[in-house]
Amino acid sequence: MKFADLHLHTNFSDGTFSPEELVGHGARLGFAAMALTDHDSVEGCARMTAACAAADIEFIPGTELTAEHNDTELHLLGYFVDTQNKKLLTEIAKFQVVRQNRIREMVACINQLGVPLQAEAVFALANCKSPGRPHVARALVKAGLVANLDEAFERFLKKNRPAWVPKAKMSALEGIELVHQAGGLVIMAHPGLNRTDEIIPAIVDAGLDGIECFHTKHSTATSGRYLEIADKYHLLVTGGSDCHGFSKGKPLIGTVKLPYEHVEKMKAKIAERRSAAVVSP
Ligand code: AMP
Ligand code: ZN
Ligand code: FE
Ligand code: FE
Repeated sequence: MKFADLHLHTNFSDGTFSPEELVGHGARLGFAAMALTDHDSVEGCARMTAACAAADIEFIPGTELTAEHNDTELHLLGYFVDTQNKKLLTEIAKFQVVRQNRIREMVACINQLGVPLQAEAVFALANCKSPGRPHVARALVKAGLVANLDEAFERFLKKNRPAWVPKAKMSALEGIELVHQAGGLVIMAHPGLNRTDEIIPAIVDAGLDGIECFHTKHSTATSGRYLEIADKYHLLVTGGSDCHGFSKGKPLIGTVKLPYEHVEKMKAKIAERRSAAVVSP
């Protein structure tokens, strides 16, 4: 059996593994294919391409975008995107600036509570263009201001906690169009985490290609529910670990093993769309 992990983060966003370390884990676990889905970034794809080629693993370039529909947040995974696509790179760069400004706002909120974290310490630790809340949490731990990451999220960073700052998001329609014009497929990430069921029909109408049915935080019953929804709407099925590095001493990569036949179906859909684009005037 060949398996894939289609939801992975590196230190080009809020993961802690470098592309080479991530591929090392993928090779150790015997994956046939891996996709990189860094938040608002495709920058790690070049090094993933080289590392996967050296390990004889098929690489699928991707990204994870934060979007919204009727005030519901959803994450969109874009796969097989052209990582040189100008519009994709321009939009991603805008959201990276949003992320950087948001870090400053979150740090200001933390400072108001008398906790002396410095924004520069967060940026130095993040060392990437796409910083996020996990970097703030890690900087708080590193500075000895909280005991662990859970405390950082519980006290400051979780939604509606004092340093939670909403992030400007693209609409789901904009996200879908952005990925499609870059030649990619759009998949709704971990629907079981965002409670997005009621918006699925509208997102399907907008051009959604698939659903991430298998995810570390989906129970067997949750995966089953989304497999039924995927079947009902004729959507692709994907899955991945959402590995961000070591979590409680172990990397999450390996917890989800997507049968490779789903990757073949994704490639068939891309091929079909590209050949339709060639024949249409
Ligand atoms: P951001 O994109 O900056 O809003 O950060 C979102 C990321 O933070 C997610 O991808 C998770 O990796 C992480 N995250 C969100 N909530 C928590 C939590 N309660 N504990 C630990 N990590 C979290
Ligand atoms: Zn993340
Ligand atoms: Fe996500
Ligand atoms: Fe993710």
